[in-house]
Amino acid sequence: MTDCIFCKIINREIPSDIIYEDDQVMAFMDIRPVSRGHALVVPKVHSEDFLSTDDAALEYITPKVKQIANAVMIAMNADGINITTNHGAAAGQVVFHLHFHLIPRYKNDGLKPWHHHDSEQKTRTELADLIKKKL
Ligand code: AMP
Ligand code: ZN
Repeated sequence: MTDCIFCKIINREIPSDIIYEDDQVMAFMDIRPVSRGHALVVPKVHSEDFLSTDDAALEYITPKVKQIANAVMIAMNADGINITTNHGAAAGQVVFHLHFHLIPRYKNDGLKPWHHHDSEQKTRTELADLIKKKL
C-alpha cells in the first residue's frame, strides 16, 4: 500500500531498525517505545488490522511473534512482556497495517495496568450470551 508507513519500512523506502525478516514477516524497533526494547512484528503483505487478516497469515506470524518475543525478553533481561495488537482507532490503533507490539516489562517500571471494574453476575451472563450468539 503506497501510503502505509509500515509498507514503506518493508520496502526499504524509509529506514528502520530491523531485527528479523523472512519472506512473510518483518520485525523492527518501535520508533517511540513504551519501554526499553519495544519492538513491532508485522506481516509483509499489507492488511489493515487483526480481524481483517486471513487465517493463513495469522497462522504464519503467530509463532514468529512468540520467537521474537522470547528473544526480546532474553536480550532485554525483561521480567515480563506485553504482546498486544490494537484493533481500531478506539483501541488506540494509529498505524493501519497489522502489527503486534512486543513491550518488555520490568519490575516496578511504573507502566499503568488497565483499570478493572467490578461487575454483576447478571450482566456477565447477558454479555456472554450476546457474544456466544455471534460465534
Ligand atoms: P498503534 O498505536 O498500535 O497503531 O502503534 C503504532 C506504533 O508504531 C507506535 O508504537 C509508534 O511508535 C510506531 N511507529 C510509528 N512510526 C514508526 C516508524 N517509522 N518506525 C517504527 N515505529 C513506528
Ligand atoms: Zn502497509
